Amino acid sequence: MNYQDEILNTDISFLKGVGPVKAELLKKELNIFTFGDLLYYFPFRYLDKTKFQSTEDFVDEKTYYQLKCKVISKQIIKGANRKIRLHVIARDEDGPVELIWFQGVKWIESSIEIDKEYIFFGKMEAGQLMNKMYHPEIESVENNKKKYSGAFYPMYYSTEKLTSAHLTGKNIGKITENLISQLQNRTITETLPEYIIAKYKLLDLKNSLVKIHFPTNLKELESARLRMKFEELFFMQFKMIFNKSVRERKLKGLIFDKVGNKFQKFYHENLTFELTNAQKRVIKEIRKEIGSGAQMNRLLQGDVGSGKTIVALLISLIAIDNGYQVCIMAPTEILAQQHFNNISNLITGLNLNIAFLSGSVKGKVRNSIMTGISEGYIDILIGTHALIESNVVFKKLGLAVIDEQHRFGVKQRASLWSKNKNLPPHVLVMTATPIPRTLAMTVYGDLEVSVIDELPPGRKEITTLLMYDSQRMRLIRFLQSEIQQGRQVYFVFPLIEESENFDMKNLQEGYESLLEYFPRPEYQLGVVHGKMKPADKDMEMNRFKAGITQILVSTTVIEVGVDVPNASVMVIENAERFGLSQLHQLRGRVGRGSSQSYCILMTKYKSSKESKERLKVMTESTNGFYIAEADLKLRGPGDIEGLRQSGLLDLKIASLIEDEKILRFVRELIIKILEKDPHLSVKENDKLKDYVIRNKSLFTDWSRIS
Ligand code: ADP
Ligand code: MG
Repeated sequence: MNYQDEILNTDISFLKGVGPVKAELLKKELNIFTFGDLLYYFPFRYLDKTKFQSTEDFVDEKTYYQLKCKVISKQIIKGANRKIRLHVIARDEDGPVELIWFQGVKWIESSIEIDKEYIFFGKMEAGQLMNKMYHPEIESVENNKKKYSGAFYPMYYSTEKLTSAHLTGKNIGKITENLISQLQNRTITETLPEYIIAKYKLLDLKNSLVKIHFPTNLKELESARLRMKFEELFFMQFKMIFNKSVRERKLKGLIFDKVGNKFQKFYHENLTFELTNAQKRVIKEIRKEIGSGAQMNRLLQGDVGSGKTIVALLISLIAIDNGYQVCIMAPTEILAQQHFNNISNLITGLNLNIAFLSGSVKGKVRNSIMTGISEGYIDILIGTHALIESNVVFKKLGLAVIDEQHRFGVKQRASLWSKNKNLPPHVLVMTATPIPRTLAMTVYGDLEVSVIDELPPGRKEITTLLMYDSQRMRLIRFLQSEIQQGRQVYFVFPLIEESENFDMKNLQEGYESLLEYFPRPEYQLGVVHGKMKPADKDMEMNRFKAGITQILVSTTVIEVGVDVPNASVMVIENAERFGLSQLHQLRGRVGRGSSQSYCILMTKYKSSKESKERLKVMTESTNGFYIAEADLKLRGPGDIEGLRQSGLLDLKIASLIEDEKILRFVRELIIKILEKDPHLSVKENDKLKDYVIRNKSLFTDWSRIS
């Protein structure tokens, strides 16, 4: 990061107590390169150094304990390969505790006196006879009394490597103290505009940075934390909203105001069902925007099966009616192929040219498609990310649809903008991973959002059951009876990326044991997994679609978008290994036809409480938004797909969930500021203008686009 004040950009190796070796480690392990980075490395917790816990406390291995104990015995023990360690037994009123050191053994041994009281601080583990602490920090009781009058001793995360180089959390606190005393007579330039600080009574930057490390009372700590959270969320949102507002002003869009005969013909002749109200509303929203002269960048959220494809197709027809081409991009070959097949069927009789492109389309076929695109006689191009390669040149691209956005990055989305010569195409991003509102706002802060919040009528609620391995025979009998009634079954095995061989074994064994219960020729089973050639995968999928195979055994390759209405049962093995959003996606593969559908989550009886709770959420609801909220509560935002890549979780102090109020507040504030002063030319917004100039790389390079 680039700080405004030169001193904060000083290399960390120049700090008292650091030096070149530790500096290297700080850079590698904690991304602390400069004085400023260290200053912004905040304590994760504050500890009351005058309060003590008991040696008998129930042990939770994440928690730090502080014990005040009298030393009973100490002993240096020689272990294997002549390594020595120190064992100390100490006790408080409640009982004994064992303290163990592997490093600095002699020095520590010589400085501990029997019968004397010390304060030991560290994580505690349960031992057989008594609780244990490895490498606790030690302090004499007098020293503790002298040093700490009350709460708020800062605690910093360290890493194993840093600790072994004597940069424990405590030592990080020490070097931070050195830094702060070095900054005493210096100014730290304020980042937020004065009027915001004054109006919302925020603590100034310098004070906040000092107090957040070394607060003297709770009120100080809270004001410092609030200020730093505010600042962090403010600039995160500012970046997005400013980009968006510049884009809206600078980027003219293609105007699609005509509804022509392709749309009309499709609507009146090809569409076999009535659109849901939600679909109609969303189409209206989109039509309004693409007819307005602005460029559309819109996220279409809608639960699995809510009918996003038809919406995308109708909008595509409008683009075509206005004389433009359309591309539709999907994250996997299977899904792209399926869109291609579906849409090809849907548009029969409309006299449109549609083509499929992916990495596996080669040679002459590829060449003729490339020509078709560049000469403009292909109206709809459907494919994988092969579509965004630079050699794919459209004659007139008017609309780019991206299905399942969470699989693509923002960069890929932006690269579509340059695919049309004069003005960028409209972009419609579709996702079935419902994201709670606050997160949508931040992750997709630069997109408009439309939501299809209604399923087509006549869908039967999917029944979700949790079953244990011991109930497998019941499951088999149930599947046999479903298949006898003409239904089909998905059987999904988890994919654990770090051990693909193991996964394949898992899948293979699962497949073989199923063969015992579902023997040929009475039953037909198919297998698909990610390692198969696309052509083989397609063949298997097509056999399943055609009803030739009754059971499809697979890894999660079927997760996204596959549509086989006759499949009525989804069995998920080791369901506890999947995230809720993934389970929800998988479940969405069934319940697409008219018969009652089931999702069966298989799990071990002994799985953890947390995973049982998670799976219970699945049995409680089929509403994607409900599930997303629950997931967020149970696991935090880190597991929401797409969020990790977005970098939004690199927040140092604010939390997207806990600080939702601040987030909403700063968003509204920024929107108001930019409405009044879109060019940041008013003097009071100088700080914001400085920020844009200092952080050019964070802002879209508009000169390239307009
Ligand atoms: P998703 O939003 O998951 O992409 P799809 O677009 O694949 O959903 O639609 C799921 C199924 O519902 C498709 O078979 C589609 O033809 C059908 N469908 C879509 N809209 C309607 C509607 N309004 N009425 C009835 N069926 C619909
Ligand atoms: Mg879909």
